[in-house]
Amino acid sequence: MSASMSTAAGAPSVSTGGDGRFADLHLHTFFSDGTFSPEELEERGKGVGLAAMALTDHDTVEGCERMAQACAAHGIEFVAGSELTAEFDGKEVHLLGYFLDTANEMLCAELKRFQAVRQARIEEMVRRLNLLNIPLEAESVFRLANCRSPGRPHVGRALVQEGLCGSLDEAFDRFLKKGRPAWVPKCKVDAMDAITLIHQAGGLAVMAHPALNQGDELIPQLVRQGLDGLECFHTRNVGHMPEHYMRLAARYNLLVTGGSDCHGYSKGKPLIGGVKLPGVYFDKLKEARRQKARAGAA
Ligand code: AMP
Ligand code: FE
Ligand code: FE
Ligand code: ZN
Repeated sequence: MSASMSTAAGAPSVSTGGDGRFADLHLHTFFSDGTFSPEELEERGKGVGLAAMALTDHDTVEGCERMAQACAAHGIEFVAGSELTAEFDGKEVHLLGYFLDTANEMLCAELKRFQAVRQARIEEMVRRLNLLNIPLEAESVFRLANCRSPGRPHVGRALVQEGLCGSLDEAFDRFLKKGRPAWVPKCKVDAMDAITLIHQAGGLAVMAHPALNQGDELIPQLVRQGLDGLECFHTRNVGHMPEHYMRLAARYNLLVTGGSDCHGYSKGKPLIGGVKLPGVYFDKLKEARRQKARAGAA
């Protein structure tokens, strides 16, 4: 039976062969800027027929234990992950870490540091809003976010909740979008350090949504730094992009991954289920992890 790769926005199907098992390896919960709980996300994944799911909240692995339990209860394979915001050659690049040891000491210490930077960034955004006579308190944002890894969407939602903006779109358009008065650039970790951090925590490092960051020219350099894979399938990889990135993955001997990048409801419906990575690629990812673990133990 042949499986097809589905992507959003009418992207062509890529025939891959397979057995009808699918994975979504890029998902967020309310432990970062998503809105679903781990249990809700798992339930929705099951609802759209996923056989495997990875949780990739920004700069945290906090939701992984709950998600692992929810998945185990319903026979779904689970991968503990995280999405790190990195920089290479002055360009932003998001790196997904998969199969992370969530108790790894250096990983936990570094994530804690990234989270402290995120919290300081929220305070700076609020300070800038206050300078514009927008009476938002940082405490309202932290209370609403209720997680260690807050971001701009939480500031936007707090502005709406406090009646200071009519909608999230308005909050971004007036204050939070790049170049707007309360926009504060995000502190980024060096991509080489991010890859090293992921590897030392037992993980595989994958470049997320390459098209979104226009980072094609970074790929060969990141490969030299030990990059393991490329997210060829993503909600925003439309048209011929999946094939383009599959070719690059083949050229640089990179693993192929994919996920919806679901953050909850988006334009009335969750993205989960819109991108389904055929099980054959997920199996290759698992095999690569086993090989790395064997090489590490030898
Ligand atoms: P941050 O990582 O804190 O800079 O925030 C990035 C997050 O903000 C991403 O998850 C985006 O989904 C979200 N975001 C970016 N632009 C907008 C926008 N115009 N409206 C709503 N959410 C947005
Ligand atoms: Fe996000
Ligand atoms: Fe991202
Ligand atoms: Zn993401």
